[in-house]
Amino acid sequence: MIKFIKKIQALALEILFPLKCLGCKIPNTLLCAKCFNKIPLNQTLFCADCNRRLAQNKKICHLKTAFVLAAAGSYENDILRELILTFKYKKLKPVAGILAEILNRYIKNLNLDFKKYEIIPIPLHQIRQKERGFNQAELIANTLIAVNSNLRKSHFLRLKRIKNNRPQAQIKNHNQRQENIRDCFQVVNPEKIKGKNIILLDDVSTSGATLEEAAKMLKKSGAKKIIGLVIAKK
Ligand SMILES: [Zn+2]
Ligand SMILES: [Zn+2]
Repeated sequence: MIKFIKKIQALALEILFPLKCLGCKIPNTLLCAKCFNKIPLNQTLFCADCNRRLAQNKKICHLKTAFVLAAAGSYENDILRELILTFKYKKLKPVAGILAEILNRYIKNLNLDFKKYEIIPIPLHQIRQKERGFNQAELIANTLIAVNSNLRKSHFLRLKRIKNNRPQAQIKNHNQRQENIRDCFQVVNPEKIKGKNIILLDDVSTSGATLEEAAKMLKKSGAKKIIGLVIAKK
């Protein structure tokens, strides 16, 4: 039955969006295996402050940052950027599978014990989520835990977006981004966060202000280590 529904969905999508590979434009695929394998993936974590690659994935420079950044690739990469934009704005949900696979390959490069972490997707404000129909970070997180059994996500560990702020993408300046995102998040069950290692998941990190604000709130509730995991950083 599920297979049948999937077939119908695939058919509907084909009619709505005639499929072409985002890379080489061959028909009938969102992204062919060849172009998928050409996306350069990172091998390390990054300092959330200065963007430096972290050797052995350990904090070496700005020790006081609330999180370390885990970015699978670069937003400068055309295919990666197209995938993210296609997913976000054309609501092409099957792209979630490709993005989750990219994250999965990247986190295997990192050689960290992810069993000790819980995933929390960056939430959208409910008004924005209603407009978009889904939260892209949530959908990627759900797809990721389906393909990697080392990863977990709990309904009790959540953030809530309590302010419907301007989209960060519309703001260029880092200080203004920090200002725009301030006090936007609330920890839903703060008592459950204490002592937990968290993976904060978002699609893109531009200035890191969103991840930083969310990480600060989680730290206030007693979170231990926080990794900000994104598909691409700018
Ligand atoms: Zn291709
Ligand atoms: Zn640094």
